[in-house]
Amino acid sequence: MTYTAVIFDEDDLLPLSALQHLVFCARQCALIHIEQMWTENVLTAEGRMMHEKAHREEHESRGSIRIEYGMPLRSLKLGLIGKSDIVEFHRQGEKDQSSLPFPVEYKRGKPKANDCDRVQLCAQALCLEEMLDVHIPAGALYYGKTRRRQDVLFDSTLRTTTEKNITSLHKLIRSGRTPPAVWSAKCTQCSLIEQCLPKQTDGQNSALDYLRRMLRE
Ligand code: SF4
Repeated sequence: MTYTAVIFDEDDLLPLSALQHLVFCARQCALIHIEQMWTENVLTAEGRMMHEKAHREEHESRGSIRIEYGMPLRSLKLGLIGKSDIVEFHRQGEKDQSSLPFPVEYKRGKPKANDCDRVQLCAQALCLEEMLDVHIPAGALYYGKTRRRQDVLFDSTLRTTTEKNITSLHKLIRSGRTPPAVWSAKCTQCSLIEQCLPKQTDGQNSALDYLRRMLRE
């Protein structure tokens, strides 16, 4: 899939984090980015603290690697904006002074079965590619629970999955409509379970609709 369609206006850029929310659950994404709901639980607080730690220093060098913390990211082709945790710039050789960007994203937990972390990282790489006019073959996810880095290859499959999700994200936000709740095991890990009420809302689009109906009865 080649993503050549449109150039977005600055006002239409969506946060990179919304992509991760979408891959986790489209309803969670809509509750946060359309209905402006957010609540912090232990998991999100730990995640936020990890990101704040990653953004504390601006840059440093370790041997042939320059490390940039909290680098602003933006893509007008994809309509995305955000910040990286870390971008490492790997010098290509003694004589070759050019550097290859290598994005690294910090995650609180452990590697997930779904693609949400890989898609978010790949979207960061796509932003960097547009900003710096380079091809970025790989990056890494660092998981707090395992204290390990997991390399992620930005192959054509992951790039296509990422671009499809970006298209879905823009469609969802443009629609202004929250998809109905579908109860599943991941709901127990969701910071919005109290607002979403996945068991009680029973397929209704908005948790607010459910609350209004409850108040009427
Ligand atoms: S509780 Fe479940 S259905 Fe509701 S937003 Fe969270 S993950 Fe999605």
